[in-house]
Amino acid sequence: MSVYGGIETGGTTWKCAIGTGPDDLRAETTFPTTAPEETLDRAVAFFRSGEPIAALGIGSFGPVDLRPGSPSWGFVTTTPKPGWADTDVAPELGRRLGVPVAFDTDVNAAALGEHRWGAARGLDTFVYLTIGTGIGGGLMAGGQLVHGFTHPEFGHLLVPHEPTDPFPGFCPYHGDCWEGLAAGPAIEARWGKPAEELLDMREVWELEARYAALGLVSVIAILSPQRIVIGGGVGAAPPLLRLVRPRVDELLNGYVRAPELVRPALGARSGVLGAIALAQTL
Ligand code: ZN
Repeated sequence: MSVYGGIETGGTTWKCAIGTGPDDLRAETTFPTTAPEETLDRAVAFFRSGEPIAALGIGSFGPVDLRPGSPSWGFVTTTPKPGWADTDVAPELGRRLGVPVAFDTDVNAAALGEHRWGAARGLDTFVYLTIGTGIGGGLMAGGQLVHGFTHPEFGHLLVPHEPTDPFPGFCPYHGDCWEGLAAGPAIEARWGKPAEELLDMREVWELEARYAALGLVSVIAILSPQRIVIGGGVGAAPPLLRLVRPRVDELLNGYVRAPELVRPALGARSGVLGAIALAQTL
């Protein structure tokens, strides 16, 4: 039986794995995202040192070019991450490893992983959302991962700015978009400490739940997901999970019911396992 390679590339770390699924991971590594050349070299070295893979799947931070036939397919495009704009990721790794490559966003890969093995098994329309250093969402509709014109950008939804919140938002493009108001860096800038040091501060999480719910209601209204899987360091934090559902119900006000909001069953491995699942689609 063939084994596959998966990479979840993030702005902070790259996770690489070789295997066929969650119960059969033969090798795994995580390393920091440094300059593109050095980071790609480390990934190539990892896959060359392991069992030969039949194909490679990559779930990438973005924005990325996913248009089939585009000359920059498989590139990271306009990212604000220093050094990474217009970086050839998928074609370069495919050439160096001599294998076919499947390429999608990190969150679409995570959605696929949760669909294949985790919290979204048996569904055909659902969202995987992560709230961490940014906010991102992957979408499966009618059994297919959605790409469209570019790819969904849940994090840049424009949500109402709470009148009592003086924080202007941190998104370099929009200021107070959903990510600008509610991702981890917003919490840290607003309250002076990272989210994980504020777990017992109720006011922090009441505001966070309010912002999370404002975005989720738009997601629910437009996409009608059968379930929303919420991961990430902030998204899966226990105080948020406790508070967000009542806020969503309050905003929907009985007009439609909210679907289940659940944590990823694959934990922090949704993305890298989803990348393996992507490789298996080739
Ligand atoms: Zn934005």
